[in-house]
Amino acid sequence: MRRVAFALLLAAALAMFAWTLRRFLRMFLAARPESRTDQPLDRVDSVLRYFFAQKKVVEETTIPSKRWPRFVSWMGSKYHFLIFWGFIVITIGSAETLIQGLFPTFSLRLILGDTLGAVLYHMIDVFCALVLAVIVFAFFRRIVLQPRLIPMSRDAAAILSAIALLMVTYFGMHTDNPVLAEVSWWAHVVILLAFLNYLLYSKHSHIIAALPNIYFRNLGQRGVLPKLNLEADDIAATGVVQGWKDFTWKSQLDGFACTECARCTNFCPAYNTGKPLSPMQVVHDLREDLRAHMPDRGPLDTLLERFQHGDAAAAKALDPDRPLIGGRTTEEVLWACTTCGACQEVCPVFIDQPEKILQMRQNLVLVQEKVPADLARTFTNLERNGNPWGIGADKRMDWAEGLGVPTLDDRPDAEYLLWVGCAGAFDDRIKKQTQALVEVLREGGVDFAVLGLEEGCTGDPARRAGNEMLYQMQAQQNVETMNAKKVKKVVTACPHCLHTIKNEYPQLGGNFEVRHHTQLIRELVETGKIEMPVGDAPLGPKGKPKITFHDPCYLGRWNGEYDAPRAVLDALPTGRDGFAELPRNRDHGFCCGAGGGRMWMEEKIGTRVNHNRTDEILATGAETVATACPFCTIMLRDGVADRNAAERVAVLNVSELVAKSMKRKRELEGRAAEAAAAAPTRT
Ligand code: SF4
Ligand code: SF4
Repeated sequence: MRRVAFALLLAAALAMFAWTLRRFLRMFLAARPESRTDQPLDRVDSVLRYFFAQKKVVEETTIPSKRWPRFVSWMGSKYHFLIFWGFIVITIGSAETLIQGLFPTFSLRLILGDTLGAVLYHMIDVFCALVLAVIVFAFFRRIVLQPRLIPMSRDAAAILSAIALLMVTYFGMHTDNPVLAEVSWWAHVVILLAFLNYLLYSKHSHIIAALPNIYFRNLGQRGVLPKLNLEADDIAATGVVQGWKDFTWKSQLDGFACTECARCTNFCPAYNTGKPLSPMQVVHDLREDLRAHMPDRGPLDTLLERFQHGDAAAAKALDPDRPLIGGRTTEEVLWACTTCGACQEVCPVFIDQPEKILQMRQNLVLVQEKVPADLARTFTNLERNGNPWGIGADKRMDWAEGLGVPTLDDRPDAEYLLWVGCAGAFDDRIKKQTQALVEVLREGGVDFAVLGLEEGCTGDPARRAGNEMLYQMQAQQNVETMNAKKVKKVVTACPHCLHTIKNEYPQLGGNFEVRHHTQLIRELVETGKIEMPVGDAPLGPKGKPKITFHDPCYLGRWNGEYDAPRAVLDALPTGRDGFAELPRNRDHGFCCGAGGGRMWMEEKIGTRVNHNRTDEILATGAETVATACPFCTIMLRDGVADRNAAERVAVLNVSELVAKSMKRKRELEGRAAEAAAAAPTRT
């Protein structure tokens, strides 16, 4: 009788679960296709590292709390690791329980033998106890510590309670009291099967979706937007995202893989400066939209949504007519993103938040024609003059006056095309960086030329601001010019130009070997083509470092280059001892606030991103903050000036620091030569 009752319960639960899975599969099949099946071994490797070893969870920087001891903060970010492994081990015990429901004589001990079986049972007991302790901590964390963004919700309470009850009933099943054991057994299997069926409708859908999401993660170049087909007659065929169906199945899966850990939001510069953007919420908005459009919607969805969020919120959430873009996710949210990639970097399940934000921006610009006024001016500048500054295109070579910089027409066989960029050509401050870079390249014997008046904006500001049409116009023109001149190698002054030409121009037929100038300068320094004097005063007054470095997001996070600028800075007279890292550095660097077209937009909400970063720089006591991006230079220069620190802190590009050191070396050599000439000679 017990077996029959259990078999019926199991069959009903599995049928229900299969029905839910089918709903999800139908939704994914209705989505845009995307190929994510290449490199299977690398994908398995990702699963081992990031799912089973929880690499990102374990390595993640703890966000310190001012209210609680460091250990509590540390536990807050690491306890998931314990829950995860506890869950894996306990699942083995739960599987045995379910099989025993059908075959009462089954036991893992029969398969593993007495010794191994005993070890396994012992481990399950230990993990059950540990998970119970961690669940108590999880309740304490949500109710007492109340971390920003991780509130105690009904859904979380239900899930945590279910896990705790599974542990308690597991112990109950193994007592010597037969009545308690029987009651616990039934309670355990009912909770287990209910939990399985509730999962995909709860925030804990990640328990099922995280593994495939990690397996199907993007193994290619990061931060490359899919190319829109602007030739298509039908808007749906262009690839512009209009709603849930226009995201790829992988983007949809992202929505269900989110663990709600809030790491992305905690590292987001927009969120940290009071903007309405939370990348976690953007992912949840997409998930909510998907739920509202799920096939076979019915009373079950309403019931669950009401249980989780209350009647009013459920009605709003499940309203299929509520638009995603500009509705569930507001325009203000979408325009606040600097596309810095900090969110994606820390996400333990490889969700691509910036791509979703940019795809929704494309909809705002290309479909809804909702463009903030300051961006509209930038678009006009790009259309009319080929640069966002709006300065006449005929002034593009003014920076090079008197320098004798050759164009590719002068030197068609030059090894490198030096891509100057609009900031380097039109902004008075950044023109000096370009001149310094030319000086350094010449000193290093680099054979280079520029496009001169034929260079146009790469289109990066337009693409990141959602204007794919303008981007493709700009980019196509550049690709045609570069291909006509048979360009092979490019060195860029700007990381945004690097990213666009290197990673996005191939979509338009432009395939070039592209390097950032710090990568080339590093090579010049390491091969001895550029020499700098060895310093004798590596530290500033009171032992403070002389130099610190601000990582540009498009060089570091998007293109993985953290070492080249640091290697060049180490070779400066200040040396390694005179250098200090900023607290938020490398992959956890904090944006300057200029990316994603934000350079051209007023920052009206909250505090300024560049002020946040500047305060961190000033706290180091460094005399110079080195940069490797013109936009960062401009933002930090403004930040330092706003903090009245321009007299004591210089904002200089790596190329300018190298040029200064070369000059110093020449001075020292000149003085030494004079001294040698003036010294009396012995006869
Ligand atoms: S890309 Fe940067 S600014 Fe945009 S959501 Fe992510 S962390 Fe925030
Ligand atoms: S998107 Fe990623 S980082 Fe953000 S809350 Fe979800 S799982 Fe965490």
